[in-house]
Amino acid sequence: MTYVFPPEAMTSLNVAHSATKFAVRRVYCVGRNYAAHAREMGTDPTRDTPFFFCKPANAVLPVQDGQTADLPYPGQTTNFHHEVELVVAIGKPGTNIPVEEAGHHVWGYAVGLDMTRRDLQGQMKDKGKPWEIGKAFDHSAPMGDLYPVSKVGIQTSAAIYLQVNGVERQRSNIDQMSWSVPEIISHLSRYFELMPGDLIMTGTPEGVGAVVGGDLIEAGIDGLGSVRVRVV
Ligand code: MN
Repeated sequence: MTYVFPPEAMTSLNVAHSATKFAVRRVYCVGRNYAAHAREMGTDPTRDTPFFFCKPANAVLPVQDGQTADLPYPGQTTNFHHEVELVVAIGKPGTNIPVEEAGHHVWGYAVGLDMTRRDLQGQMKDKGKPWEIGKAFDHSAPMGDLYPVSKVGIQTSAAIYLQVNGVERQRSNIDQMSWSVPEIISHLSRYFELMPGDLIMTGTPEGVGAVVGGDLIEAGIDGLGSVRVRVV
């Protein structure tokens, strides 16, 4: 097989305490999955049907535990926001997955940042247009190491937090999600065939806010490592 251009190297996440990599296929994101964040965004936190958007796989910025990656401040924004999220990695294919079976499709977990050009997202939202320019830009998804379920078990309750320059901005618990991980997987799998390599960013708790050049973002979930980036 020859290609017109050499194919880009596949994006992959580090697996904690292992030399093995997890090849990334697709990145699905859940919108407004914590009631307190829905309220701060000026929307009704009623538990409505979950909704999804996507980021390209090569928007993922893998950050190894203990390292600090550079996160370029993107163009066309003056309101660049952090959102810390639990990332779920899929390890088994499926469509129409029942909620009670969904746990078997989870390969592992990581800490992720759903970085957002909030001004552009807001403009698109107001016009009823797609969010891609606000959400799906290069380096918009920094992610830490993956923690396999085989090592850490199914996670339903754990503190999730984010600091900027050592000052806490976000703190909640993953048990505060409006839609649980099994419910998200079940719902998503009605619309897309989930495959090994797919990632799901499960929404952010309250406390989102802007960062500027030079800021150090440190975010983590108890038991599932952390991610650290410097805005440059
Ligand atoms: Mn988000």
